[in-house]
Amino acid sequence: MSPDPSTHRRGRVVVVGSANVDLVVDVPRHPGGGETILGGDLRRSPGGKGANQAVAAARAGGADTTFVGALGRDESGELLLASLDGAGVRTDLVGRTAAPTGTALITVSPDGENAIVVAPGANAHVRIGPEQAERIGAADVVLTQLEIPLDVVLAAGAARRPGAVLALNAAPSRDLPDAMWAAFDLLIVNEHEARDLAGEAADAAGAGAPVDPTSPADPAAPTDPVDAAEHLAATLLARVPAVVVTLGGAGCLVAQRGSAPVRLAAPRVDAVDTTGAGDTFCGVLAAALAGGSTLVDAARTASFAGALAVTRPGAQDAVPTADEVATFAH
Ligand code: ATP
Repeated sequence: MSPDPSTHRRGRVVVVGSANVDLVVDVPRHPGGGETILGGDLRRSPGGKGANQAVAAARAGGADTTFVGALGRDESGELLLASLDGAGVRTDLVGRTAAPTGTALITVSPDGENAIVVAPGANAHVRIGPEQAERIGAADVVLTQLEIPLDVVLAAGAARRPGAVLALNAAPSRDLPDAMWAAFDLLIVNEHEARDLAGEAADAAGAGAPVDPTSPADPAAPTDPVDAAEHLAATLLARVPAVVVTLGGAGCLVAQRGSAPVRLAAPRVDAVDTTGAGDTFCGVLAAALAGGSTLVDAARTASFAGALAVTRPGAQDAVPTADEVATFAH
């Protein structure tokens, strides 16, 4: 899983994914269907899983990072470019489209939990052309997510060099064609995504109707979240060689074929906004892997970065620096 286990160096990461402007409102609680509630002032900030992860890989992970995505020719596109550039991400291969920049509508409740709706806009027009393929071919780790078309995810994977790691953060949850799984070396998912994909995996294995392997209806199903994650990861390992399940404040689980799963506790912090914690985790994990860390060490570094991110509001704005992560980890 580590492309260059002998040395720790500044690895090369290409993130292929979405960029959104986040429109965020603090709410006393998330509204139910048909309900209107009053929230706080509107905040507008750079986000999108792909752009967040690229910022994290560059700023918190210290990797030589390229972002491959698409932005509208609008003010939101400029906001995103400024944020990516400010974090040291290479943006020369970002496309500009007539479609508006992607937009995410986010509500954040007092406990830091968020609820999100995304209007994809320009993200539907991400393209892997010859220049993008060449940069991907030079990367140690290629990191992608599911906020862009699946054929773009596959094209990114096809462009990587032998030995490079293709990592999928399977977020947001959506069905993946069976044939697609073989492309990925590493799957990074939160517990909800793990449950969705493990259900699909069990179904594809011939169990009949979709199965929830940790269903409370099953008396043998584990109730502890880390036990449940271990159970889900074991199912997912039938499809990908390595899986990391993130568990919010409960840390994460690293599972690899042929090794015992490793549980990593999260550092204790006061969460103010969990937006972008998973993206910070993914970007830093990719950067550490690209730099030669083992998967477990990379996940440990990513846990510190993810924990710092939840102590600050925003997505890209909450991503810590590599120095802050190093200080926190010691
Ligand atoms: P989001 O979609 O909100 O960005 P996610 O659900 O994809 O997040 P999480 O599992 O919530 O991802 O968080 C990713 C990682 O960040 C966790 O595995 C953990 O290391 C760290 N983290 C998240 N929340 C906390 C917390 N409350 N305390 C400490 N660490 C946290």
